Amino acid sequence: MPILVMKFGGTSVATLDRIRRAAKRVGREVANGYDVIVIVSAMSGETNKLVGYVEETSHLYDAREYDAVVSSGENVTAGLMALTLQEMDVPARSWQGWQVPLVTTSAHASARIEEIPTTNINAKFGEGMKVAVVAGFQGISPEGRITTLGRGGSDTTAVAFAAAFGAERCDIYTDVDGVYTTDPRICDKARKLDRIAFEEMLELASLGAKVLQTRSVELAMKYKVRLRVLSSFEEQTDEAGTLVCDEEDVMEANAVAGVAYSKDEAKVTLVSVADRPGVSAAIFGPLAEAGVNVDMIVQNISEEGRTDMTFSCPTNQVARAAQAMNDAKDRGEINFHDLISDTNVAKVSIVGIGMRSHAGVAARMFQALRDENINIKVITTSEIKVSVLIDRKYMELAVQALHDAFELDKAG
Ligand code: ADP
Ligand code: ASP
Ligand code: MG
Repeated sequence: MPILVMKFGGTSVATLDRIRRAAKRVGREVANGYDVIVIVSAMSGETNKLVGYVEETSHLYDAREYDAVVSSGENVTAGLMALTLQEMDVPARSWQGWQVPLVTTSAHASARIEEIPTTNINAKFGEGMKVAVVAGFQGISPEGRITTLGRGGSDTTAVAFAAAFGAERCDIYTDVDGVYTTDPRICDKARKLDRIAFEEMLELASLGAKVLQTRSVELAMKYKVRLRVLSSFEEQTDEAGTLVCDEEDVMEANAVAGVAYSKDEAKVTLVSVADRPGVSAAIFGPLAEAGVNVDMIVQNISEEGRTDMTFSCPTNQVARAAQAMNDAKDRGEINFHDLISDTNVAKVSIVGIGMRSHAGVAARMFQALRDENINIKVITTSEIKVSVLIDRKYMELAVQALHDAFELDKAG
């Protein structure tokens, strides 16, 4: 039998009624002749609640126990989905990550999938089971501890299963009907894309568009998984949703495919550091060792041998960054007058493979922000993206202005 992977996100399994709706969709695919692997998220809000419990219980928590707690939301929905399917006379059973076993690295809270053996589940399909319902987001480490794949990780579970089982398609059912030119919740002119290239989706996801977890796009690209994003609330046709596919198969000719934003970004400035060889290494070495994910970097023009160094990192890593810098200062490795952090910033990015062949895209972006009087604090570019750090209060305005400036509401 051909295999289909269907993943239902938190809002799509938020109530028993919605689980029934999702199960009906699964039942239809079984009737179409597929063996189905269903990947479920926790009911919406559940994972946040569990994270809150952990943080309230223990400030510097043991990441292994964090994973034991936060993975549990998916166990509930997997069991409920299997029961719902059974009620519909569809032979189904649930699997927690360790039962598969979905083996991951030991990097708790951000583990990577190492192996998905197909034997157990295939044996059950062979015995007449039609649907394997698998709890997303979770796995087991080589030490036998429960791990999780990072927030939004059920997308990655789904794509990894599709790759491992050679599924015909991996359908990601969510609360929007596809991938849009930007988050439709903050820009009402956002346009749904019928297709988007893997590389563009990868950039959009890593720059904040949470519709797919970044790692899921990486895996789909690597293993050539046919990946589709679609709504669990609307009736579907074969052409519904957005297909994430190779660049050659995308018809759009716009220089910019989409706009992404991230609020999870903070700016840290080291005021007055010595401007001499080796200073950047002395700053960014200890930051890397402390596990700080530095994103953007700017160094000011130096004056009398001293300069300011600014970098951005995730908001929840600012304390760690400050600690690493103060320790390096105490060891005499660097010298700065002050460390200023600003968490009231946001990163807004434009993404598009068309940028490779279109000149002046960055200039147009800066012009659009200037027209709205939005000050740019830091800029970074790569071949297919330009990102700026701005005051958080202008984030939505910036997204809308850029969407207008690049006429993303019109198909290219
Ligand atoms: P799920 O619970 O189904 O995994 P998520 O909340 O993780 O859903 O992801 C879907 C959300 O992603 C949408 O509700 C939307 O607000 C957001 N989003 C951000 N950028 C985009 C985009 N470019 N296209 C579609 N959705 C986007
Ligand atoms: N429930 C997890 C989260 O909220 C995983 C997921 O939904 O993809 O991050
Ligand atoms: Mg998600």
